[in-house]
Amino acid sequence: MCTTVNVETRHAKIVSGFKSAHRRARRKRRLPKIASVRKILSLMRQVCKICGNESENRQHMAKEMGFGLRETFEYLECGACGCVQLVQIPEEMARYYPPEYYSFQKHGRLKTFVRHKWSAFGLGRRSALGAFFSTLFAPNGSTQAIRRAGISNGARILDIGCGSGRLLLDLAYLGFTNLTGADPFIRQDLVYDNGVKVFKRPLLEMPGQFDLIMLHHSYEHMDRPAEAMVQVKRLLSPGGQIIIRIPVASSYAWREYGVNWVNLDAPRHFFLHTFRSIEILAGQAGLQVFQVVHEGNDEQFWASEQFARDIPSNDPRSLGASPIKRILHWPRIKAYKARAAELNRTGQGDLVCFHLRRAS
Ligand SMILES: [Zn+2]
Repeated sequence: MCTTVNVETRHAKIVSGFKSAHRRARRKRRLPKIASVRKILSLMRQVCKICGNESENRQHMAKEMGFGLRETFEYLECGACGCVQLVQIPEEMARYYPPEYYSFQKHGRLKTFVRHKWSAFGLGRRSALGAFFSTLFAPNGSTQAIRRAGISNGARILDIGCGSGRLLLDLAYLGFTNLTGADPFIRQDLVYDNGVKVFKRPLLEMPGQFDLIMLHHSYEHMDRPAEAMVQVKRLLSPGGQIIIRIPVASSYAWREYGVNWVNLDAPRHFFLHTFRSIEILAGQAGLQVFQVVHEGNDEQFWASEQFARDIPSNDPRSLGASPIKRILHWPRIKAYKARAAELNRTGQGDLVCFHLRRAS
């Protein structure tokens, strides 16, 4: 016992001596900080968090451009599965989700009306206004995916990472009756008059069985995707389906724009998956992908080109600043939409909806 203490004390002294010697040397010869040395060493042995590959991994430095903070973050692109991943998750992630972040915005009557028409159109309920909004913005990928799932109005639906449950409220308006949400980052559990319930719980603590489990642009924000996939399978009813909608690095936009690709969205997106990395995660959890639908839109072009010119998403010059701007620049937007549709047709779109079920 005594020997251990002595050894530890001696070890602490050696380390402390090394640190002060390093500090002195740094002052004289401008050596890098110990933290920097550690970082360099960790860079040398970076491992893909999905497939464990260590060879031919590439390093990328991406800036926060959604809110114009321009802080730089390091991403690793796996040489084997291709997954692009944030190397170190910042301690204070809340700082990168300001009140202006889209899922925190409250919608007034007009926006809610527009959303209802747009969502209904995605479900296949035709209307002139629904068609107009789907052309002006982009088709509603959430309700299109639910339509493809072909479920009944009474099916048990779980939306993971749903914020305050805006999509679930739209689905209640459109006739679905068994709607549950889970989001660990909301302030408290929410129970709405129409029966929609949203729980402030991590996936691990969610009880129940669901016929349709949806992750609409939430999976890329999760720091442990393998564990999340296992939990999703636990919550899936026999014969149930899973929808995972995410940006993918198996895309033209990542190849063309690299760190200026708008849907890299540093540092909010921890993982930019590929078909391969999703297959690996699904396989490990006992799931299989049975349908892949590309749903990239015009934003991948104009917003990425803006980032390359140092124009962030919240800049008044951005084409995303207002629907009026989109109308004023319609010929350009229309050309980008045509290119996006072509990429989707050829399997290169930057946004993808994966449909999964239990592996047989
Ligand atoms: Zn990998």
